[in-house]
Amino acid sequence: MKYDVWRFLGVLFLSGLIGTVTDHFSLCIIIGLSFFLWWQYREFSKILLWLKKRKEVSSPSQSGIVDETCREIDYLRDRNKSRKLKLSGYLRRFQEGTAALPDAVIILGAHSEIEWANAKAQEYIGVLWPKDAGLRLSNLARYPKLINYLNASESELDKGLQIISPVDNKLVLEIRISPYGDTQKLLVARDITAISRTNQMRKDFIANASHELRTPLTVISGYLEGFVDDDQCPQEWLGYIQQMRSQSTRMQRLIEDLMQLSGLETDPTKKEHNVLAIPDMLSAITNEARSLSGFMEHYITLQADKSLFLKANQQEIYSIFSNLVFNAVQYTPEHGRIELDWYEDESGAHFSVRDNGLGIAPEHIPRLTERFYRINAGRSREKGGTGLGLAIVKHALARYDGSLFVDSDLNKGSLFRCDLPKAHVIRADNSVKKSLSA
Ligand code: ADP
Repeated sequence: MKYDVWRFLGVLFLSGLIGTVTDHFSLCIIIGLSFFLWWQYREFSKILLWLKKRKEVSSPSQSGIVDETCREIDYLRDRNKSRKLKLSGYLRRFQEGTAALPDAVIILGAHSEIEWANAKAQEYIGVLWPKDAGLRLSNLARYPKLINYLNASESELDKGLQIISPVDNKLVLEIRISPYGDTQKLLVARDITAISRTNQMRKDFIANASHELRTPLTVISGYLEGFVDDDQCPQEWLGYIQQMRSQSTRMQRLIEDLMQLSGLETDPTKKEHNVLAIPDMLSAITNEARSLSGFMEHYITLQADKSLFLKANQQEIYSIFSNLVFNAVQYTPEHGRIELDWYEDESGAHFSVRDNGLGIAPEHIPRLTERFYRINAGRSREKGGTGLGLAIVKHALARYDGSLFVDSDLNKGSLFRCDLPKAHVIRADNSVKKSLSA
């Protein structure tokens, strides 16, 4: 900087001196200053040329402000270069890392266009990077399920999606999409072929084993029944035979429940759906509950919206509602209250069972719908429970996109509520009622 000041003063002094000698002071000063300006302009033009053609032209090496500017530019350029190197190193490592993943990873833009994909994406979904960059995923993999999932709400996205790979029909994939940034989405596809095969084997095994056990058990029960009714059966055997009969009835109930549960799990096809007069079904269930209650003399009430019907499968809905009501009878002490309600609100139809029985401690509530989960296994068996009732309720409700809500206070009572979406609700006018009774 000081060089520039000295240079400027030098030009001023020299112009002043020549001006004094030649008697043209002002003119010489103007000429001197113009020269100084021209010279500065030339130096900055050199910097511009150097910036434009860095490779061919060397930097101007004039001491002073020009030189300092060039060094500063050089320093910034070096710093940028090393940052760029660092960033491209990170990017390379990220790409190498995701390429080594056993899952397919695809980055999608706001309109599900492909922004980036790893190598597995080609193997699993048929997306080839970089050839398919910018293409919409829905144009590549024409799967209605996948397309719906791409446009699903965040809560739906959390559930994930299972599909057969569009590239290889032996591959079962689990797809998960996580939104990130402003509009981008990260799609991860995992090969779950082995898990889904094991699951299928487990389901098939249970379905087959229950089926195979049913016939011999029916024969044994038949003979035991025969013995009890036979007058020639020795009296001392009767106690043992009664015990065998009650155990075989328990086993039959268990097998029926297992078969029902595995049917709900393995058979994705919809069973026959009819218009069901739910208030009538609930009256029948209430009567059955009263006779089950017997000497326990529960006070059972039913409040039902008389014109609220459902389009659903009779057996499945009966199973859902009766399981909840019979549980309330089993787990409510003598003279307890059980209130049944069937009503509709803006979210759909609801069936609730409220009792003032044993209640459930909070830690058990999330696990109630697991198979064979019982709070007190001895008590459940004693009451004839199989430990599968609520699992059946959950799976049957899932067929209608419904859900089970449980609220309970230990020693105070419980509320079990089935929530069914509006799509299954039928408002019964007289014509529906007539056609049902016909
Ligand atoms: P179970 O055949 O044993 O009744 P469920 O699947 O129907 O099997 O129920 C699981 C467990 O949930 C039961 O063992 C019981 O401990 C508890 N349970 C269900 N309904 C009620 C209720 N109304 N009050 C208290 N506990 C209940």
